[in-house]
Amino acid sequence: MTVYDIITKKKYGNELTAEEIKFIINGYNSGKIPDYQMAAFLMAVWFVKMTPAERAALTECMLNSGKKIDLSEIKEIKVDKHSTGGVGDGVSLSLAPIVAANGIPVPMMSGRGLGHTGGTLDKLESIPGFSVELTQEKIIKILKEVGVLIMGQTDDVVPADKKIYALRDVTSTVDSLDLISASIMSKKLAEGMDALLLDVKTGKGAFMQTLNDSIALAKSMIEIGEKLNKKIIALITDMNQPLGTAIGNSLEIIQSIEILKDRGPKDITKLVKLQAAYMLILGGKAKNLDEAKEKVETVIKNGKALDVYRRMIKAQNGNPDVIDNYKLFPQVKKIIELKSQQAGYITEINALDVGIATVFLGAGRLTKEDKIDYSVGAILKKKVGDYVEKNETLAEIYVNNESRLEEAKTKFLNAYKFSKNKPVVPPLVYAYVDINKVEDLNIPRD
Ligand code: URA
Repeated sequence: MTVYDIITKKKYGNELTAEEIKFIINGYNSGKIPDYQMAAFLMAVWFVKMTPAERAALTECMLNSGKKIDLSEIKEIKVDKHSTGGVGDGVSLSLAPIVAANGIPVPMMSGRGLGHTGGTLDKLESIPGFSVELTQEKIIKILKEVGVLIMGQTDDVVPADKKIYALRDVTSTVDSLDLISASIMSKKLAEGMDALLLDVKTGKGAFMQTLNDSIALAKSMIEIGEKLNKKIIALITDMNQPLGTAIGNSLEIIQSIEILKDRGPKDITKLVKLQAAYMLILGGKAKNLDEAKEKVETVIKNGKALDVYRRMIKAQNGNPDVIDNYKLFPQVKKIIELKSQQAGYITEINALDVGIATVFLGAGRLTKEDKIDYSVGAILKKKVGDYVEKNETLAEIYVNNESRLEEAKTKFLNAYKFSKNKPVVPPLVYAYVDINKVEDLNIPRD
């Protein structure tokens, strides 16, 4: 067996055996196979696609490339959530404490910003002192004492994904159903969860841009989980415009605190509460959605969820006082108002363009080595469907380094489209998917 033969076999549309997949993944992980051959293989997979059996073999191989976290000491059903990535998608930050406040352990392994999308770990690191690196002992201790933690992928957990992801990021092979499925599921299976809610984003700011592709991605991940006896459900949610109003690391943390104080923006708050309710059902704490929604409201109203958030921040060495004093976050030098150049109804705020504009400000990375500026970003003052006058403020831009400010402003303004007529606003949630069915939900944004 040679790498060359495996690449050629895939290129001509043939199904690979589990042994062949193992050969290439293990070879790359151990450094025996160079980047250029792996890149050719990934591009062949992008074009030809994989069968479910190949996808399962790829996931298993990546999962077995490193250590697994052992959570067998925690007897309750452990439930996690994973998003395929979006702009302003800080859902996990408020969701995890709400679920834990209802007695469900949440061992959340999250990622960093990728391309135009933000990452939960980068956002959390805007809290002074916060650490996403946890040892096995610390993971168990925090889960027992607080019930929730949000951690990063370590070098010894799914190392194959870490290496392959970095290569995909620079070879235009991220947006592949097969590769995304194996990447997400190998990490989720390694972290020791029992059940999982997937938030599969769809639209212009998502890796999967059509509803059909997003449903196919959800089904693919659900099937992989099912084979390993994990209960997985998915919501297909909108990423045509940014979610919520905050985009940027500390700005999204502040927004997550506001959500737990029950005064967050409508759309993201609604999505947080809905996803939390589904997780309560997965964790066996509610029999139906109505009961689950009530339990979610209760822990927000009585402050229990906010208290869990505070304790999680403290347990992960962050300064919990940020909850009451937002001045403790790194501050920007300037806040600039982005004015509308015309009057009309906003028909589109392209999430991809907004994401790239905030990366130009320093909220994300343009190269792997870039350092993130936690304080920069934007606060949207208007969303799709709102009417604006000429010169009215569309967004506030939080700025430090001005070297790419003009580029960022142009990109931001180009993200908006206007019309004289009030548009139909895309729904917040399109569909629910589980192993047996796909159900249309069409839940509006407000
Ligand atoms: N998130 C991941 O962890 N992996 C992907 O491939 C895409 C999104």
